[in-house]
Amino acid sequence: MGKINILDIDTVNKISAGEVVERPASAIKEMIENSIDAGANKITVEIKNGGVSFMRVTDNGGGIERDDIEKAFLPHSTSKITKIEDLSELYTMGFRGEALASISSVSKVELITKTKNEECGTAAILEGGKFISKDDAGCPDGTTIVVSELFYNTPARMKFLKKDSTEGAHIADVVDKMILGNPGVSIKFINNGRVVRMSPGNGDVCDAFACVFGRDIVNDCIKINYEYQGVKVTGLVGQPFASRPNRSMQVFFVNKRAVRSKTICFAAEQAYETMLMNGKYPILLIYVELNASHTDVNVHPSKLEVKFSNEKIIHDAVFWGVQNAIFSSQEVKEVKYSEKKTVTGIKSTYSDYNFKNDVSSVNAVQKETSTIINENPVSNVDIKPEELFSKDVIEFFKPIELQNAPKTTTCEKIETPMKFSDSAVEYVEEENYYKIIGQIFESYIIVEQNNKMLLIDQHAAHERINFNKLSANKQIDSQVLLSSEMVTVTDLEADTILSNIDIYEKLGFEIENFGDNKLIVRQAPCDVDVEFIESAIHEIADIILKGSEPEQLWDKALFSVACKSAIKANTRLGDKELEHLVNIVLNDDKVKTCPHGRPVVISFDKKFIEKEFKRIL
Ligand code: ADP
Ligand code: MG
Repeated sequence: MGKINILDIDTVNKISAGEVVERPASAIKEMIENSIDAGANKITVEIKNGGVSFMRVTDNGGGIERDDIEKAFLPHSTSKITKIEDLSELYTMGFRGEALASISSVSKVELITKTKNEECGTAAILEGGKFISKDDAGCPDGTTIVVSELFYNTPARMKFLKKDSTEGAHIADVVDKMILGNPGVSIKFINNGRVVRMSPGNGDVCDAFACVFGRDIVNDCIKINYEYQGVKVTGLVGQPFASRPNRSMQVFFVNKRAVRSKTICFAAEQAYETMLMNGKYPILLIYVELNASHTDVNVHPSKLEVKFSNEKIIHDAVFWGVQNAIFSSQEVKEVKYSEKKTVTGIKSTYSDYNFKNDVSSVNAVQKETSTIINENPVSNVDIKPEELFSKDVIEFFKPIELQNAPKTTTCEKIETPMKFSDSAVEYVEEENYYKIIGQIFESYIIVEQNNKMLLIDQHAAHERINFNKLSANKQIDSQVLLSSEMVTVTDLEADTILSNIDIYEKLGFEIENFGDNKLIVRQAPCDVDVEFIESAIHEIADIILKGSEPEQLWDKALFSVACKSAIKANTRLGDKELEHLVNIVLNDDKVKTCPHGRPVVISFDKKFIEKEFKRIL
């Protein structure tokens, strides 16, 4: 007789149950997920003794048809997929068909359910996975599952359970994640008879967040809403001043599923760059949504890690989403500041720039176009725009086809059509002119060119121009300040700055130690406005402190100087300044994205505008 046995289904279920149902919290998670998958918008979770003796989840979802009830408790029974290909289209929480089979094999279960097409509901009782009874039940549409005496038939597992209060805390954590992950679902949590949570389920992330962490904290947060390369990033992020001593207020969701993700965490924290003190962590509630085929859903349900097929896109989407949110909240301050400025006359840091009218490089613009879709920081991106965007959207963000721009801003008609044979698509232009329409919101410039309306971000454009200029020059031009600037620093900063004084010198700063946590700045890079000198010095110290490869460090330091010397948003520009800036943007093919990779120009096709106004179909 051989020694190898084939295990009976009962034993197999009990073993696999241990993987799915590790503790009461994992059963609760599976049950809430099932309710959400069933379309419920009201879920009540009730537990006693940390869930070990009693757990009940009630929902107002679609219910289970009477004939399906037995099947629902069989292993690998699911209504969510039928074949492996379905996985790439999957947006439900569960799909393995293991949860009910596993939970019921290690507990006593009562199921009460009714679909809206059935006149009468059904109540079924199972013990250790076996059906005890199935009867008619008068009940509303939806499903209630009561799980009692978890692990009553697997004493070994029972021993691993912690104190009731610990198990209860794990459940509370699961419920909180469900509340945050599903702001559109009202979730009520009752622990030992006490209502602990009740989320409004009105779809507002702020209210879901307030339900879990308290209303006060929401006031210190900013909403994010960003889309990049088909990856949608939404949620709430804390203002830098509201940072926490640990990461307990960081929650991430990918396609509604709570996940742990180093990529998301790292990208978001990086977006705060120099704004947080050491040992402080931002508040982050981030929802990432992307085509399901770009995540690996086949990771085990009890594991929270998520795998992306392209980490770089996720990183960039989160980074820009968070950074834009933080910056835009800070721009409010700049508005006030520039309002004051316009009263006393417009001052711009732009005047120092050496305007370059190098039209020879223009043909290359055809190749290196920059749009939201085409801007592509990674070469091996495998998402095609067609998969992610509607045709209209693709048309809307079509590559900018910039033409050889004349030096004047008047309308100029060029009779001979121009042919650009080096572009991927042959492009024949009848007209070649551009016209500056003007500045809007004191931040963007509208230009008409070749049947397109171009929108230029003045800060991004100037930042890129400055960065290119700085990185092209080995030595940065600096100027002696009329009156030296005094900068207050911490001990650590003073130490960092003085021991890396060569970096500062290369960047054009002349700094001396004044003692008593003060530094004197006698010279600064030409283009940096005096009022930004102090923040540039702090920022560069932070960059050094964070430590990176020498080349990256240099680039980051240049970014900082480029940014500090760029025209800010909310700054009114004079005609000459507009003209010069537009001229460079349209003529220099290296000015198509800001150093951070954001677009400098967005193009609106005339056809798109006409379509929007229903002039053409
Ligand atoms: P999975 O969720 O992976 O499909 P489960 O074992 O969790 O597997 O559930 C099995 C099936 O039972 C589900 O596919 C679904 O059809 C049904 N089901 C479970 N819970 C509910 C519920 N609360 N409401 C409606 N149907 C449910
Ligand atoms: Mg499930």
